[in-house]
Amino acid sequence: MAIIREHCQPGARRNPTGWLPQAAWPEDCVVQWGERGIVISNDRTRQTAFFEAFPTDPTTFIRGEGASIPEAEASAFAQFRRYLDCPEHLVERRGYRNGAGLCISCGLFVSGAFEPLPDPDTSGLLGQALAGDPEALAKVMLDVFNHEVSE
Ligand SMILES: [Zn+2]
Repeated sequence: MAIIREHCQPGARRNPTGWLPQAAWPEDCVVQWGERGIVISNDRTRQTAFFEAFPTDPTTFIRGEGASIPEAEASAFAQFRRYLDCPEHLVERRGYRNGAGLCISCGLFVSGAFEPLPDPDTSGLLGQALAGDPEALAKVMLDVFNHEVSE
């Protein structure tokens, strides 16, 4: 049995009915779950639920969603199985600057996979332009444009 967070223990606020996870989560895997409430769309109401797991092998965060908590757990466990069944994780940065990455085969999120990238240098005009300063960007574009025209 996984480690159930305090607020999801049987009888606690999120678990008045005493429901317990059904999937074969590792013993050291922390889990929690809850209802997100009622979603009303196209004159229909449906309940959404989530199930979150924090396994240690691999160390990651998994979130499953579904119409019910058991369905959300099944979705989360399917993700976990996919991570375990991945023959070789091929981790890429995929836009993360903080050192985290994603496996391109199974979608595993890996924190600390890489050295974090330094913050962009915003000291110069180009840095300010890259950081989204519209005036700096206009000046850089003008410089580039004039430079190209003069040659
Ligand atoms: Zn993988």
